[in-house]
Order: sequence, then C-alpha cells, then structure tokens
Amino acid sequence: MAFFIMIAMPIMLLSIAAGTIISLQTNSIQESYDVDANTVQVITNPIQILNRLTRGIYNEIKLTALKEPQKLENATFINHLNSELAGRYSFIAMRKDDKFIYAGNEGKLSEIQKYLQKFGEYNTDVDGGMYVSGRSPFLVKAQDFYFQDGSEGTVFIITDLNTLFPQIKALVSQTVISFLLVLIFTALMLMLWIYRSILKPLNILRIGMSQIKDGDLEYSVQSDTDDEIGLLCEDFEEMRIRLKELIDNRIKYEEDIKELISNISHDLKTPLTAIQGYAEGLIDGVADSPEKQEKYIQTILSKANDMSILVDELSFYAKIDCNTIPYSFKEINIREYFDDCLEEIGLDLEVKNIEVQYYNELDHGTKVVADAEQLKRVINNIIGNAVKYLDKSKGVLQIRIHDIGNYVQIEIEDNGVGIPKADIPYIFERFYRADASRNSKKGGSGLGLAISKKIIEDHSGKIWAVSEVGVGTTIFFTLRKSDGNIK
Ligand code: ADP
Repeated sequence: MAFFIMIAMPIMLLSIAAGTIISLQTNSIQESYDVDANTVQVITNPIQILNRLTRGIYNEIKLTALKEPQKLENATFINHLNSELAGRYSFIAMRKDDKFIYAGNEGKLSEIQKYLQKFGEYNTDVDGGMYVSGRSPFLVKAQDFYFQDGSEGTVFIITDLNTLFPQIKALVSQTVISFLLVLIFTALMLMLWIYRSILKPLNILRIGMSQIKDGDLEYSVQSDTDDEIGLLCEDFEEMRIRLKELIDNRIKYEEDIKELISNISHDLKTPLTAIQGYAEGLIDGVADSPEKQEKYIQTILSKANDMSILVDELSFYAKIDCNTIPYSFKEINIREYFDDCLEEIGLDLEVKNIEVQYYNELDHGTKVVADAEQLKRVINNIIGNAVKYLDKSKGVLQIRIHDIGNYVQIEIEDNGVGIPKADIPYIFERFYRADASRNSKKGGSGLGLAISKKIIEDHSGKIWAVSEVGVGTTIFFTLRKSDGNIK
C-alpha cells in the first residue's frame, strides 16, 4: 500500500503540475497571439500556430501578386499590410531582382537576408512557410511575381519565431522545475516514511535484541502499526515473553530441584537415623526380650519401606519428566477393581483406626481403559495423603464412585487437616507442599499429587480437590469409560 502511494502520489502531483503549467501557458500563448489552438498543438507545433497568424494576409498578398501586382508597388497598400502584420510579430519585405526595395523591419531583414531564396527557388516546408534558422529563427512565406517593368519580384512575410520561444522556454523550464520539486517532495516523504515506519521500529527492535543479548528480558518492544514491521515487533515481543517464561521456568525448576534435594536428604535421613538407632539397639542388646527385638525389627522394616516408597516416587518422577511412563492400557472392570483395592488396603486402614465408607454405584459391567498399576499409584497417593494428613483420633475415609455418563467419577474424602484455600490451586504442582513447615514432619516429596495428575491426564481424565481447613479434603478424579478402543 505504502509503495503504491509512493508511486501514485508523484504521478498525480506531476500530472497536476504539468496540467496547470501547460494550461496557463497555453492561455497566455492564445491571448498573446490571438489564436485558437489547443494544448497539444502549442506544445508539439508552435511554428504552426505562428504560421496561422499570417495566413490571411499572406493569401491576400498572394492574390494581389498574381492578379494585380502593381498594387504591391503602392507604398500605402504595403505599409498598411505591414502595420497589420506588426501586431503578429511579422513584417513584409519585398525584393526586386536582387535588391530589397521594401523592408518592414530592416534590422531583422538584414539578419536573414542571406538565407532567403532566389526568385523561383522558393520552396515551402511549414504549411506554406519556410523555416529559416540562422542565429535566431524566422518563418518565411514568400510569393514571386513580376513587376510592371518585367523585373522579378518576391514579396516575403517574415515572422520572428523568437517571440514565441520565451513562452515555450518558460513552459519547459517551469515543467522541469515543478518535476524536480515533486521529485524532491516525494523523496522527502519517502525518507520520512522509511524513517517513521522502518528505521524507528527497527532501531527499537535492535535495542530490544541487544537488551536480550545482555540478559534483560523485561524490555518490551511495542509497535502501533499493523504492517510487516508491526508484525515483526509483535513476533519479537511474543518471542521475548516466551523466552522469559522459559528462563523463569528454568530458574524455578532449578530452585525446585534444590528444594527437592534438600527434602530428599531430610526425608531419607529421618528413616535412616531411625534404622541406625534400632539396629544399634539390637546390637547393643537394648532390645533384651524377643518381643522388643521383634518390635525393633518391624520398625526397621517399616522405615526401610518408607525409604523405598520415596525412592520409587523419585524414580517415577524422573520418568514423568522425560515422558517415558511405561503405560499398559487395558479394559478394566472398574467396580471389581475398586472392590479389590479396598479389600487390600482396608485392613491397613482399620489398624490405623480409620473407618472406610465405600459407595460404589456403578453397574457391574462398567469398564474403563486404564493402566491398573498406575491407577493404583494414584489411589495409593490420595489415600496415603488422607492418612498422612489426618489430625483426628478417628479417621473417616469416604470413597464414592459415580457414573457420570461417558466418565466414571471417583471421590475420596477424608476428615483430616484440610488444605488452606490459597494452596488448593497449587497442590497438583510438582514439589508443592502446603504449609511446608507443618508438613516437613510428615515426610513426602510434594510429588505425589503431581504424579497423580499426570497419570490421570494421560488417561484423558481430570483431577481436582475441594478442601476445608479443619474439616477435611476431597480429591475428585474422572476416568473415561471404555468404548472398546484401547489406545
Ligand atoms: P506430599 O508428598 O507433600 O504429600 P503431595 O503432592 O502428595 O505431596 O501433596 C501436596 C500437598 O498437598 C501436601 O504437601 C499437602 O500439604 C497437601 N495435601 C495433599 N493431600 C492432602 C490431604 N488429604 N489433606 C491435607 N493436605 C493435603
């Protein structure tokens, strides 16, 4: 568009300028010479215009020369014609044999006298006239005739072309000047346009790039145009924001890793210290009865199990990060699956004084496509948290399973400490632990729910939480029912 304007504008300006100049000059020529000629004629054939000026008188002289040549010797007649021609930038000259006997303008005649042709040689080249160049140009019309005494005579009408040329010259020079002005104006506009729409934003982009090169990702590049440069600025801004996000994520990731390492060392150290203590107790004979020894060994086993779970979670998390969880999707009868699951953990929960209330409203034939092992990991994580964050002497765990059309919805509700409202949106993020100081005693990596979320999403389901501090937490998740296709 801009380039089109830059081409169209000078053409338009030049046309307007040329049109105005030509019409002004044509008018002035028409007024000065009293001829009715159009612009094209004035420009292309100015001599023709002047030629027309004297045509009438020339015809009169021609007729007189042919029919009554004696009249041409009449000084009054010739003077009269000559004075008429004077207004038309012309004059009469008359030659008798080789001598000029009349000159309407002697000065000018002497200029061209030598160029005038001899009797009988007269030849026209411009519509009955003859162009005589010399130092200054003239248009000459001539007519041969015989004087009464028989001598050869020629009568000339000589028009001074110099009178017309100033106007033509002015026309040309004004046109050239206005063309130059238009060109300069267009070039200035073009430079201004290039500066405003290209150089300025390019400079801003360059500064933005050098800021990014120096590590400052806050420098925002804004453009208020919607041309190519504007789009480039937008892309650049998008790139900057993306880069900033990547770097922020990376920084956060590195901080998370540091925190994870510190958590892991803490979480590994606690059971290890206990194992060390009980093992030393056994060696030193502190456990002196078989019951005590049994208790010590059970504790060592339980702590070793905690460590094993933690290490397992870590190695699984590493797989999540590289997207290499080895899923094995199968059609599972979800009702039977949960029945078995509950049976398996029921005893453990009973020992911990946790009552389990189980509502399963699914049809017997309801199936989902899932990886049984990974699904187990999710259930264990959620129930493990319910147990871990239980602050009441009597725990109540409600497990409800509903049919919600294409999906099965599982709800696991506990009556534990609950999660503060501000933390709920983040608990599914990796390493996130609500109330870290409180939770540090409980162990855990902050990975359990992040792993669960990833697994449920890989099953095309959703997971979310509802919680109230002091009342309890409900974790919901959905699983898509099987349509016979196993991914
Ligand atoms: P963690 O290993 O710390 O348990 P999770 O990812 O399993 O990590 O859980 C993240 C955080 O969510 C926990 O640190 C805890 O603060 C909170 N949370 C999860 N489940 C419960 C629950 N049932 N009751 C109270 N808080 C919970």
